[in-house]
Order: sequence, then structure tokens, then C-alpha cells
Amino acid sequence: MTKTLEAQFNHLIETTKALQQGHFQLASGLHGSRFFRCIKLLENPQAAEFLFDAMAAQFSEPIDMVLGANEAGSILAFETAKRLNVKVAIARQTDHQYHLIDGFAIAPEQRVLIVDDITTTGGTAKKLITIAQSAEAIPVGVGLIATKGLFEVDLGCPTQVLITLKGMDAVSPESCPLCQQGVPLTQ
Ligand SMILES: [Zn+2]
Repeated sequence: MTKTLEAQFNHLIETTKALQQGHFQLASGLHGSRFFRCIKLLENPQAAEFLFDAMAAQFSEPIDMVLGANEAGSILAFETAKRLNVKVAIARQTDHQYHLIDGFAIAPEQRVLIVDDITTTGGTAKKLITIAQSAEAIPVGVGLIATKGLFEVDLGCPTQVLITLKGMDAVSPESCPLCQQGVPLTQ
């Protein structure tokens, strides 16, 4: 019997210890008591293959290129592009802005699939959509491994989410109970 995607994902979280407890400042600027080290999910490439397979299976429309960013997002983009038999482009963040890494290019009219690992608000995916649009390419979809289930992630682009996480939290620093208790941020 094949396990559901969610059961496989939960097993992967357990074995990689990717979900950490503490007091974290998230990429969105919000604070949370649980933090995903997404890259840890990928420490055993064979164990993570089901995620790449599931991501590639979400998209049947014509795609020319997969675009991802940062460490885990780059690996996800590469593996998804491999399965879709298309090109890949990688962006990274410098000075709070996303840019394509030198050597990668997106051509006008190219149909670009944007992928990202785990998002709170979809901020990275939004910035990658902007990169595609500024190259006059066509963002045809967004694939996310997971959302934290806290916010409506509306990217103005057809979005597939493999897993909605349960029990995640994200609050503004001003209303963060851990800040109010004087708990230092986890480094
Ligand atoms: Zn806090």
C-alpha cells in the first residue's frame, strides 16, 4: 500500500529533524515557535525523491523552464526541471532583492514554472514571478512543497501546494508571546 503524500512528508520531517522548536524570526519578519530548516528535508536525496516526483506531477501544461531560489528552492527547481525535461534557472537574494545568478537567463515568451519549498506568505514566489515578468516571460504556475496554513497565499498565478502544514504559528513581533516572556531568539 502506498502511503499518502502527507504521511511520507511527516515521516521525512521526523527522520531529518527538519522541524525545530524555539523562538524564531521567520523570513517574512514574523515570529514563530516552530521553524522549518527546509534544506534538512533534502539531506538524503533518495528519501526526498517523492517530493520532486509529486511536484513535477502537478503540472501538465507546456513549460519551458523551472525557476527557483535559495538553497532548498534551487534543488527543488533542478529536480523538478529534470523530471519535466525542461531548463532550470536559479535566483538568489542579495540586499533583500532577488536576482538570477549570473549565467542564467529567461527569454521573453518563455513559459516559466516557479517553485519554492515552504512558505508563510508566498513572499519568495512573488519575487520570482516578478523576475519572470520583468524578463517578459509568462509565469504559468507556482508549485510549493508546503504552506503553513496561516495565510491565504494568493500569487495571482495558478498555485499548487503539496502539503498544508498543521500547528504552525507566525505572529508579528509586537504580539509575539515569546518576546513578551523575554525568550531570546533562537540562533
Ligand atoms: Zn518573538
